[in-house]
Amino acid sequence: MISGLVAIVGRPNVGKSTLFNKLTRTRNALVDDRPGVTRDRLYGTVYLDDERDNGFMLVDTGGFETKGVYFQPFKENLVWEQTEIAVKEADVVLLVLDGKDGVQAHDHELSRYLVKLGKDVIYVVNKIDGLEHHPRIADFYELGVETLVPISSAHGRGTWELVDMIADRLRHHDMLESRKNPHEGTQIALVGRPNAGKSSILNRLLGEERSVVSDVAGTTRDSVDSPLTFNQKPYVIVDTAGVRRRTRITDGLESLCVMRSFQAIERADVVLMVIDAEQNLTDQDARIADLVASQHKPLAIIVNKWDLIKDKTANSARDYEREIKLKLRSLSHVPVLFVSCLENQRVHKIMHVVEALALSSTKRVGTGALNEALRKIVFEHTPALIRAYGKRPKFYYATQVTVRPPTIVIFCNVASEIQESYKRYMTNRLRELLEFGETPLRIIFRGKAEKRQKPGEAPERAVAGGRRDMTAPDRFAVPAIAFRDDLAAENEGGIEWDENTAEFQWEPQGTV
Ligand code: GDP
Ligand code: GDP
Repeated sequence: MISGLVAIVGRPNVGKSTLFNKLTRTRNALVDDRPGVTRDRLYGTVYLDDERDNGFMLVDTGGFETKGVYFQPFKENLVWEQTEIAVKEADVVLLVLDGKDGVQAHDHELSRYLVKLGKDVIYVVNKIDGLEHHPRIADFYELGVETLVPISSAHGRGTWELVDMIADRLRHHDMLESRKNPHEGTQIALVGRPNAGKSSILNRLLGEERSVVSDVAGTTRDSVDSPLTFNQKPYVIVDTAGVRRRTRITDGLESLCVMRSFQAIERADVVLMVIDAEQNLTDQDARIADLVASQHKPLAIIVNKWDLIKDKTANSARDYEREIKLKLRSLSHVPVLFVSCLENQRVHKIMHVVEALALSSTKRVGTGALNEALRKIVFEHTPALIRAYGKRPKFYYATQVTVRPPTIVIFCNVASEIQESYKRYMTNRLRELLEFGETPLRIIFRGKAEKRQKPGEAPERAVAGGRRDMTAPDRFAVPAIAFRDDLAAENEGGIEWDENTAEFQWEPQGTV
């Protein structure tokens, strides 16, 4: 769970970006590789544990500086404007001071400003590379603070103590560990650019669909979740305060919105992306959609303000949808809904779509039906020869190991050599044949030749296959021990678990 936003602020050259890199790029290379986040060097994730169950987002406001425009607090320029917004959004601010330069006028100004905003500030004295530099710290008490944190970003001195301190502060704000969905039911995130109509949709959904009407404050200052009931089932729209938040958008801030959406997406079971019919799908929307896809969360696109499209014909919606799908090539299965909040058209359909997505993302199929489908798929379209091996990929056996997302493991001869296009074909056909609807499937190909994880290596709680395990997109989410249980229950594929070698023994029967 990524909770909390931490902003690094300070004059130029104090070491903000060095600190940012230190915190985001090291510690077992816990670097975020989610699309939409890392492409910018402004944002990164700092994980607090190896399981990546907890972490926070870090923003380097120094990254807003562009050639010729440098950070000058309170001056009329974009750099300051962006810094100001990042600071206001932040839960904790790191004010970085330069231990070599001593206190400067801007440090005073910034400190006063942050205090006035009521921000939780950690005063960091950087460039304290060794014990001999410690006397330099005293100077900074002039800022009227009680605690100064000496660090050396360049050498990593004190940086992990700093991370612990940040974690304590976030915990103090109830940001960490407590965001775990206080309400029962399917969690829905509403995302999209400002003005797309998210608040209008939210109001319609809450006003018309829910039977219990009350905004319930979540566990954090700015996280408010709204429960609603639909078809006798509970749903929660997460972070509705975020939906209503008004942020003026300047170019550099696109990612800040993506980042804020990211937190809601992490918590969601179903994501609704609202777009303005007149604007079509923007690059930012596409980035958010990528992000959702990387987490295998079910997504629906709501094209709002359909009333504004003039001279509609019978094909308008179809053509519009085709255009969206062109931009989102990897998401051909995503449902697209055309609504108008203003005229209250088709808004009522949204919850039906959510219901269907939620249902299909928890669907389980039996091993028999799954392997039947696998056989059919391979029969219909044989995979290409793997040149390096002089053989074709062979698929021995498939089993569904968990839901949310439905995750299917396909045992094969050489997993790493299967072509991406063939994987996509298999995924789409599995979805069709097994009627998984519009929910994303997660298919894991496990090759005979590749190293397999031993059961002892899998964290025990992962065995249950809960959704918690599925939140980190690049973590190996399906422990071998889960297969073992599965296989013991229905040993159809001729794959035996060998206790002695802690490996699967392969005796492929009925190879397809
Ligand atoms: P920013 O403008 O605040 O992002 O600052 P940078 O991270 O670009 O750092 C400015 C300069 O300070 C660079 O030359 C860094 O190598 C140097 N620097 C950063 N951190 C440290 C540190 O902990 N010790 C020392 N001696 N130099 C540092
Ligand atoms: P948000 O920033 O995404 O929450 O967007 P809002 O819900 O605040 O809507 C932004 C603006 O679009 C408001 O002025 C709404 O009245 C308007 N709006 C919302 N839905 C529709 C719609 O279906 N049609 C038209 N024409 N305008 C809409």
